[in-house]
Amino acid sequence: MKRISDLVSDYNKYRRKCLNLQASENIIPLKASEALSSDLAGRYWHENAEGENDYGGTGIFTEIIHQSELAAKELYGAGFADLSPIGGHLAALGVIRAIMKPGQKLLHISAENGGYPGYDAPFIPSLLGIKEGTIPYNEEKQEIDYGSFRTQVRREKPELVVLGQSAFVKEYDLKRVSEICNESSSRLVYDGSHVMGLIAGKVFQKDALKYCSVLFGSTHKTFPGPQGGIILTNDEELYENIGKGFTWAIQDNIHLARVAALGIVLQDMRETAEVYGKRVTENSHNLGKLLFEKEIGIRFSPWFSYSHQLLVDSGWLKETGRTRADFSKALERNNIIVDRDGRIGTSEISRLGYENMEELSNLMVSAIRGENVRDSVMRISSSLYGDLA
Ligand SMILES: *Cc1c(COP(=O)(O)O)cnc(C)c1O
Repeated sequence: MKRISDLVSDYNKYRRKCLNLQASENIIPLKASEALSSDLAGRYWHENAEGENDYGGTGIFTEIIHQSELAAKELYGAGFADLSPIGGHLAALGVIRAIMKPGQKLLHISAENGGYPGYDAPFIPSLLGIKEGTIPYNEEKQEIDYGSFRTQVRREKPELVVLGQSAFVKEYDLKRVSEICNESSSRLVYDGSHVMGLIAGKVFQKDALKYCSVLFGSTHKTFPGPQGGIILTNDEELYENIGKGFTWAIQDNIHLARVAALGIVLQDMRETAEVYGKRVTENSHNLGKLLFEKEIGIRFSPWFSYSHQLLVDSGWLKETGRTRADFSKALERNNIIVDRDGRIGTSEISRLGYENMEELSNLMVSAIRGENVRDSVMRISSSLYGDLA
């Protein structure tokens, strides 16, 4: 039998020799990983009816949670922050559960158009007994079809509209969407799972909380924190309602070590979010342009992306006799890691300060052509991860 601790150590060594371009991942700062593996990792915190912790020895926890929430509110300009959810999915479930009653209707972007599959009928809607429908979307422009959407909302009067995507390259005209929703008294919320770090950096959908009742999402995709979720709102009643159902119905333990690590990154991001966000979006646009010029099929020329993501053109893959998995595996053989869904992401390399997209695009092109560039990739990753080893 292999010892798991050895496997973890091998794994860590391997990943330090890779360049991670996975759109839904990031790397957390060392002091946040220290918090994750601290004594907090084995403790509980649970607020009782008196607003105190039910567990002993935890005065400092309460302060950690309080300070982390303060940092979240300040970073996003929100009146209320809830850091309880241990994932973006549970944040979504908590928000929708607090707003909707069984039988009511939810509208969302379809998974086919890059939306999150969790909003499809068999998943969150079936769990909560709600109906769902998809928002008309222009795939070529990567835009909501606002005209048809208005007609749809007038006709269906959904209780809730949730925006946000997992394949996500362009922001929405939220002013327009919120006007359409207001006409029919439909509530609008924003699933920022992929783009929380970019929203914090004010480089993507910085008006999310201005036009939506709630902004929620994951804390580990473009936001460079530990895996978990966050809920932000300016509506006190809604905040209370989300909080009420959350513990016991959706989860119990909030994973204190995660909250502490998140708090550390939230505090850091008050200083670094704007520079980071700008670098992420510049890198993705530049990488898209360079890859496209070198005849790799990246969608949406000439703008390519306004987020951290690039989408690989499935038409081009087909023409060149490849699948998404082939594309991903050709890169992986050279220690460049992308998912098998045709997304390329620049969050992690940007966090590490890397900006040489000319060099990266050349390496990617060679790898996709089947050449061996592993050593060159390893040289770059070793220097980027050097301090973190
Ligand atoms: C990733 C994702 C989620 C789920 O978040 P987890 O943190 O993995 O639970 C929800 N919504 C969208 C749009 C996502 O991309």
